Amino acid sequence: MTKPVLNVLGEIELELGSGEARSFGTWRLRRDDAGIAWAILDGKGGGANTLSQAVLEDLSKLLDAVEADLPKLLVLRSSKLSGFAAGADISEFRDASDEAAVTARLREGHGVIDRLEALSCPTVAVVHGYALGGGFELALACDHRIAVAGAWFGFPEVRLGLHPGLGGTFRLSELIDPTEAMTMMLTGKSAHTRKAKALGIVETVVEERHVRAAVEALAGKPGEASGRGLKAAIFDLEPARKLAASRMRTQTEAKAPQAHYPAPHALIDLWESHGGDRKAMQEAEIRSFARLLTTKTAQNLIRVFFLREGLKKNGAGESGVDHVHMLGAGTMGAEIAAVCAIKGFRVTLGDVKLEPLAKAVKHAARIASDAHLTDIEIRDALDRLMPDPKGYGLRTADLVIEAAPEKPELKRELLAMIEARARPDAIIATNTSSLELDGLASAVRTAGRFAGLHFFNPVSKLDLVEVVSHEKATKKTLSRLNAFVGAIDHLPAPVRTYPGFLVNRVLTPYLLEAALMVDEGHDPAAIDHAAERFGMPMGPLEVADQVGLDICLHVADSLRENLSTPIPDVPDWMRARVESGKLGAKTGEGIYRWEEGKPQKGKPAEHPLPEDAQDRLILPMLNAAVECLRKDVVADADTLDAAVIFATGFAPFCGGPIHYARERGVVDVVAALKELATRHGPRFAPDDGWKDLG
Ligand code: NAD
Repeated sequence: MTKPVLNVLGEIELELGSGEARSFGTWRLRRDDAGIAWAILDGKGGGANTLSQAVLEDLSKLLDAVEADLPKLLVLRSSKLSGFAAGADISEFRDASDEAAVTARLREGHGVIDRLEALSCPTVAVVHGYALGGGFELALACDHRIAVAGAWFGFPEVRLGLHPGLGGTFRLSELIDPTEAMTMMLTGKSAHTRKAKALGIVETVVEERHVRAAVEALAGKPGEASGRGLKAAIFDLEPARKLAASRMRTQTEAKAPQAHYPAPHALIDLWESHGGDRKAMQEAEIRSFARLLTTKTAQNLIRVFFLREGLKKNGAGESGVDHVHMLGAGTMGAEIAAVCAIKGFRVTLGDVKLEPLAKAVKHAARIASDAHLTDIEIRDALDRLMPDPKGYGLRTADLVIEAAPEKPELKRELLAMIEARARPDAIIATNTSSLELDGLASAVRTAGRFAGLHFFNPVSKLDLVEVVSHEKATKKTLSRLNAFVGAIDHLPAPVRTYPGFLVNRVLTPYLLEAALMVDEGHDPAAIDHAAERFGMPMGPLEVADQVGLDICLHVADSLRENLSTPIPDVPDWMRARVESGKLGAKTGEGIYRWEEGKPQKGKPAEHPLPEDAQDRLILPMLNAAVECLRKDVVADADTLDAAVIFATGFAPFCGGPIHYARERGVVDVVAALKELATRHGPRFAPDDGWKDLG
């Protein structure tokens, strides 16, 4: 990840000469000897500026002062090392239910941003790090934008069930190719420096030390907004917009169905109806944003945002880890090693074979380049990743992570060997996905320093890591592991050892039920479709193929052996596929045939699935989640919801399995489970824990 260039507020102040800085709450204003005014945003606390209501009110006062004594140029900058400004203060969005009150607040905000745009002196936003959401909208209201190398811009609002609400919808689509603007807003994808320049979001990209010269070069220019391109003019015509909007609708529906995610669809309507007519679009943006904010989808997605923040807090603190030794460089080991090296850890990587080591280094280079690292950063990350076939790193590492094949005896041997060779204060972790830790811990004499770090595949894309405790793990080991997970920018979910831990315990019944439905003769594509219609990002059979049928079989068998709850046996057809080497995506065939990384599903069969199909798939997950709460596998319902969402993608707009159960009504869910149990068997019997959920 490109680190934001060090903010030079200190230097700016030094360079500005003798003028006193005037304070406007969260802003400071200082005029330099060249007649340039520097408005510095320095929001309260935290490492990031947000565009809270207070920041906008303070900006309004600052604009009064600027209007009263116009400078040659007004520069907007941030004092935070992390970036220009993140979006709105999301805590202000929480529990919003009064559309009229939201509309009124938005109008005030628009008033301030409009005043900034209308100033009679030229304005420039100098952006280092990120300018997101409201932060990006602030920059868009300026006449010019200068990016400090490494800066990035984006509208992540769709992830919260919203679209830009502070003028972004019309300002960005006026500034750049409107279809590119819509793509950014519809997907939430950000534009990093080079792309931002190519799109025309910024005029200039400079290194931090050249900011002042770039600003001075603008000081003489008139305060003209950049001219609108030909493309923007074409889309002023309604037929052109209609055609483009219809294409956008089809693409958006495939990824974010309107029934679950109304925001992107509202944005398309907004642009289709009013594109090119700024006044109308502004009014429609305000109304649409206020309406969206009060929907269940937005409120649940805002909940998910805070669930993420909650997990992040588990990862605060010091891990005391600098050097990681990875044992096993296969699918998981290679990814974990790459992520650690990219995040600045020294990594030695061991394996019994040489081939996986070579592959792992290549793989790391690919991950680094996908993570927008510069060539120098990629080189540094790869320098930190050392293939170590002889395992020398074991002796000096602060943390050793075992990711060898899922064979209990092999793992016990490896853990004992690690303990014998590692430093006495090193932490020993295993990435096992199905072996209970109490059993493995008995192979380690100093079991207090041993625990589970259960990563999910692919590690570079899935943020969740279960930090798995067992009876003997010390608090210190667990808190160091939590902090380590935080330090690699992943989300630590503390769980207790239990068959399948938390995530696989919840997910496996869903996969198994789908396999049973195939056994009953239902069409796999139709089964997947039913789960996707509920809001799962991927159907259960596609997930099983992705994970690997061998791994699913292993986890299912281990749950069946170790749980007292009834877990159905894996159907024979699935065992047969595993035996014949048809393991899923990795072998090119499993339940589906795979081509170029995609399952070849064909059209779902004509005959519809039984009406209870969706409940049959989803409710076993809720039932298992309640069991995990009852068994204290996880501390609370929020951690559970967060872990399941971030590891499996469980319909985020529902706010997590427990939250969904509560919103649907516990009584209703229990009744549906009982009904399913009568029809399909005792595996659906409601867990005892439902009584405590209320
Ligand atoms: P893999 O087969 O891809 O890789 C295992 C690697 O370990 C291979 O490169 C192998 O050569 C190496 N190895 C074998 N014996 C070794 C030894 N004695 N010392 C050092 N290395 C040895 O397996 P994987 O999918 O990466 O799984 C590794 C672990 O991670 C397992 O415990 C698995 O349950 C767990 N896990 C896997 C996934 C997944 O989706 N693949 C997800 C979460 C956890």
